Amino acid sequence: MHVDIVPVGEVDAVVKREASSALRAIYESQVTVHDARPVPAGSYDSSRDQYRAEEFIDLAKRVGDGEKNIAITPKDLFYHRRNYVFGLAYLGGNGSVISTYRLRTSSDGGFSNRSADDIFSDRVRKEVIHEVGHTLGLEHCDNKRCVMNFSPTVREVDVKEENLCGSCQRDIL
Ligand SMILES: [Zn+2]
Ligand SMILES: [Zn+2]
Repeated sequence: MHVDIVPVGEVDAVVKREASSALRAIYESQVTVHDARPVPAGSYDSSRDQYRAEEFIDLAKRVGDGEKNIAITPKDLFYHRRNYVFGLAYLGGNGSVISTYRLRTSSDGGFSNRSADDIFSDRVRKEVIHEVGHTLGLEHCDNKRCVMNFSPTVREVDVKEENLCGSCQRDIL
């Protein structure tokens, strides 16, 4: 599988590196990281001071030419009625997005003794793997340790691992 990463806005080098390495590790993907693109015009909702996630997915699909394409942005994203999303993907599609905006917020409550930078990197890896998992047809998984578990807050993100559980792994084979 080939995954194209499309940075949108100012994405840190460490984020691009972690995302690429996670995709290689979990999906054995080849990864291409494109040059950064500007935030899609019209994606900003001034009443919410947030950006519509769908438009970032559309951009990833326009720019990328991988089997799967993922936009990565520091902008705060929302989708329909959800106050915010860490990421979004359409099941079985070829486009997805993650936002790092809220992945930096708050620590993990001290449940590990990892540094804030390491915790942030782990979250980026898990969210990228999660959204690309949706594009591979995986739905949310009840296993709290599985990367496909639904994680509405960083707390759940921190609890899960970056791996697919056995059942999810079988579902993409
Ligand atoms: Zn999900
Ligand atoms: Zn699973």
